[in-house]
Formats: sequence, structure tokens, C-alpha cells
Amino acid sequence: MQRVYNFSSGPAVLPEVVLQQASAEMLNWRNSGMSVMEMSHRGSDFMTIAQQAEADLRVLLAIPDNYKVLFLQGGATSQFAMVPINLLRGMNKADYICTGTWSNKALAEAKRFCQANTAASTAKTHFTTVPDPVTSIAFDHSAAYVHYTPNETIEGVEFPYIPDTGAVPLVADMSSTLLSRPVDVSRYGLIYAGAQKNIGPAGLVVVIVRADLLGQPLAGAPLMFDYKIHADNSSMYNTPPTYSWYLAGLVFQWLLHNGGLTAMAEINQRKAQALYQAIDESGFYKNPVNPGCRSWMNVPFNLPDPALDNLFLDAAKQASLVALQGHRSVGGMRASIYNAMPERGVQTLIEFMREFQRRYG
Ligand SMILES: *Cc1c(COP(=O)(O)O)cnc(C)c1O
Repeated sequence: MQRVYNFSSGPAVLPEVVLQQASAEMLNWRNSGMSVMEMSHRGSDFMTIAQQAEADLRVLLAIPDNYKVLFLQGGATSQFAMVPINLLRGMNKADYICTGTWSNKALAEAKRFCQANTAASTAKTHFTTVPDPVTSIAFDHSAAYVHYTPNETIEGVEFPYIPDTGAVPLVADMSSTLLSRPVDVSRYGLIYAGAQKNIGPAGLVVVIVRADLLGQPLAGAPLMFDYKIHADNSSMYNTPPTYSWYLAGLVFQWLLHNGGLTAMAEINQRKAQALYQAIDESGFYKNPVNPGCRSWMNVPFNLPDPALDNLFLDAAKQASLVALQGHRSVGGMRASIYNAMPERGVQTLIEFMREFQRRYG
């Protein structure tokens, strides 16, 4: 059975060596006589796994000591609520920068808890740009925090800069970009990322939060939605998603063994550049996003005639290139090329696209 090149936006491809290691350890993790899935989360074996994963993530991202790292459940979507519940801290306003589907969903959830303002929106460009940092963002200095989505997974739009919010904490939904390159964590009040894009299996969401922002959750909020409860209990207030946590830990080890995030950034940039160049030079395929803010991780593109879409997808599948269909809300194609997508996979896609164009262009 041959493995395919999987361009899914998430759950997404994982490094093959990580899957092999998980497979080798499946029945008997390091002479424990059991699978990680079967272990008590409070036993010393799983504690070792959990602590190593956090330590490795701290090294990869150079996370400062005054930040807590949480391994939670409920996906990035639950963070849309946990962020206002925890970060309003007695205030009633928050700013949202809206650059696509996910930031708009985050805004809609926040509106249930406070006066959530749209500090900037690129809806007029059909989410093919990011706002100009100087002229197009109207921050409210009495906002409790500013939320943005550095990489919009569906539209394939990415910020080439970090918004400057002054003393107001900056919150980032990095679900589809965390670990793709180095990040200056100290610029953020809180970073969250659902695991199934670039970290590990679905079921896990990683939260990195400045400790001084914790401890004033909205009155009446469920304890499960209180970051401080999770921080004080090392993310084991209840049973955590143990197997996803373990697998994320294997991915962190894989990244460390392959040169960390600087090395990953170089490879990711090369992959994205090659694919965008092939699209732009083709005169056949088109990417609608402004070249200054194109995503390294999610590359949407259109064929000249949507009637060719199914033909393209079928032929791609024959060539072991799968999950290239764009999100149902935008149509067209999308190639997600996260860390675990090898350069060879992107080259194979480019060659396939050229061949398809020769036949149908
Ligand atoms: C996938 C994604 C989400 C939603 O993640 P869930 O785990 O399904 O809740 C939110 N934000 C971004 C940027 C995403 O890519």
C-alpha cells in the first residue's frame, strides 16, 4: 500500500517517521507493556510524555517563562469562546481584525460575551488582502484584547507583519501556521492552535498564554473554560486527550531533529514559492490573493473553467495527489502544504498541474 500526497487542510498529513514511531510503540510503549492510549494520565509514564512535549514545544518556540502552555480539548473553535471568557477581565470591549472565514467566526462568538468590534475588515477585497497596518486598522485603546488570524486557512491569506497593539494584549489564532516558522511569542498575550493542521491529531488544542492575564474569568463560566484551572492543574484538571498529546510530542521531536523552526521556515518558504510561481507563470491556474500576503501553508487556486474541477481532482487522485478540493465556501482548489508535506510532494503536484494544463489548456 503506497502512501499518497495528502494536501488536506486538516486533519492533515503527519510526518511519516512520526507515524512509524507511533506504530512501533503502539502495543508497548517503552516496556510499559501497554499503549499510550491505555495509560493513566496521572501515571509516571504519561507524565514523562506530557512534560517532555511541553519542554520541547518551549524550546521550539523559545517560549518565555512567564507564559503557560496548555494542552486542551474542544478545537480552536472552543477558543473563540474561551478567549473572551478569560481575557475580558472585567472590561466589556474587544477588537477583532477580520481577514477571512475563521476570524469572522471568532468575532461572532465574541459578540455573545462583549462588545466585539471589527477593528479592520478586508471583506471588500473578498479576503484577498490584509489591512494596511498604519491606515486601515482602527484600534480601540480601551479594548481588553485584539484578536486576529495570522493565517486564514480557507482563503490562503497570511499577515506579513504582527499588528502593533501597544499595551493591549494581542491574541492570535495560529491554528494553521504555528510551528511553520519561528514566532516572537513575547509579542502576544495569547496564541492558540488546533492541532490537526500542523501539530498532530485532531482533539487537541495548544494554548500559550501570558500568566498575568489569567485568573479573572467571566462570572458563571464553566470551570472547564477557565484557563487558570487548566494552568494550575498542568492541563490535567480532567482527562486530557492523551494520545493526541503524545503524538504532538513526537512531532515536536521530529522538528527538533530536523533543525527546528528556522530550518522548517526555509523549506516551507521554498515549497510555497515554487507552487505560487508555477501558478502565476502558467497563464492557466490563478491564485486570487495579493502576492504580499499569500499563505505559505494553504495555497488556493482556480482553474480557468470550473467545469474542469472534477476532471482535475479525479486525475490528481489517479496520480496519488489527494484532498485538493477547495473549501466548499470558496470552491476551486486548495493545496495545504504544512510542515509534514515533503518538497517532493509539492514538486509532484507542480508536475501534475503542468501535465494537466498540456492536456486541457
Ligand atoms: C481549522 C481552523 C479552526 C477550527 O478548528 P477546529 O479544531 O475545527 O475547531 C479555527 N481557526 C483556524 C485558523 C483554523 O484553521
